[in-house]
Amino acid sequence: MRFKDIIGQRTLINQLTRIIDDGKVSHAQLFVGDMGYGTFALALAYIQYLNCQNRQHYTIDNPDTQLAADSCGECPSCKKINALMHTDLHIIFPNTTTKRVEKNPSSADFYNEFREYFTANKGYCSMDGWFRYLNVEEKQGIINVRDGNSLIRELSLKTYESKYKTAIVWLPEKMNLETANKLLKTIEEPSENTLILLVSEEREQLLSTIISRTQPINIRRIDNASLAAHLVKEHPDLPGETIEKIASAAEGNYLIAKEYISQSEQQKKFAELFVNWMRKLFKLDIASLSKMVDQISNLGREQQKQFLQYVLDVMRACLLKNLTGKESPYILSFGDEKFANAFPNMITIRNIEKIEKDINESIFNISRNAYDKITFMALSFAISKSLKNR
Ligand SMILES: [Zn+2]
Repeated sequence: MRFKDIIGQRTLINQLTRIIDDGKVSHAQLFVGDMGYGTFALALAYIQYLNCQNRQHYTIDNPDTQLAADSCGECPSCKKINALMHTDLHIIFPNTTTKRVEKNPSSADFYNEFREYFTANKGYCSMDGWFRYLNVEEKQGIINVRDGNSLIRELSLKTYESKYKTAIVWLPEKMNLETANKLLKTIEEPSENTLILLVSEEREQLLSTIISRTQPINIRRIDNASLAAHLVKEHPDLPGETIEKIASAAEGNYLIAKEYISQSEQQKKFAELFVNWMRKLFKLDIASLSKMVDQISNLGREQQKQFLQYVLDVMRACLLKNLTGKESPYILSFGDEKFANAFPNMITIRNIEKIEKDINESIFNISRNAYDKITFMALSFAISKSLKNR
């Protein structure tokens, strides 16, 4: 992870590289801020720069990176740290039991998965995302005493390749008390050339004794312009206006912005499906309606429920437009002006109750594993009838 790959945060990065260049690295530091601000990614880029054998220095005006310095990304140390494979870098993180690790779990048991997850997300990791990746989203993750012990053992060993032996504790707020107390001792009496970075999201959940013994590095939100510029690069297909809106609604948090984008992509897909479905069921052309029902059934159960929930919201938005003329994002997202103008007129106070009742029944049936094609065909007929009884 190089600093140039971090979204925004230029002022902070230039302060961090200066601290390292001046040799003023404190042995216990607390990187704190939302993970969507890049807190973890910054901590790793920091370690990589610290150990880089060929640090790069630029003029700060470099318009491409706006950085004064960065790691080279090429030397053996950079490559190993970037891949989370450096022998002098030890990382512990929340973990739990899984199908594979049935008891006494520790970070070491999940290190490969963690590397994959971290790399795939370029360091923008979240607790929820990590446990979703492990398929254990319903569980509570903790950093247990086995992790604390392994960290202390690693830090007590001599360095192999680099000047510093580094330990990262990702989400130290998930340490249990026993682990936290062990770590506290290590922070108080560090061995030579060791560095502990706590990468935290919730400072107030840490022991005050830990906070007081670490040097805080506060990570603030990403500025809107940098976040928007990054989203444009990742999603060149999205309209500029949508990107601007998402960047501002995400309040400087890249992970939230990503969430909004996947929601808006889903909504686009649902809108297309909805418009086609309504056209076909209104005409009651059974052959093409049946094809449409197949297409909806292919979504899979979870998406089918989400789609029906979307249809409910759309119907309510249509009624509102019909009664008050008020536009809604749902109707604007149809992407078909003729349909967007005509369809809301078909939803009235005379048929909305029946339509809502039929959709809710279908959601219930789908949840109960009813045969989805029959459910959607029956719903098509019911809505078709309601549209005519307005
Ligand atoms: Zn390097």
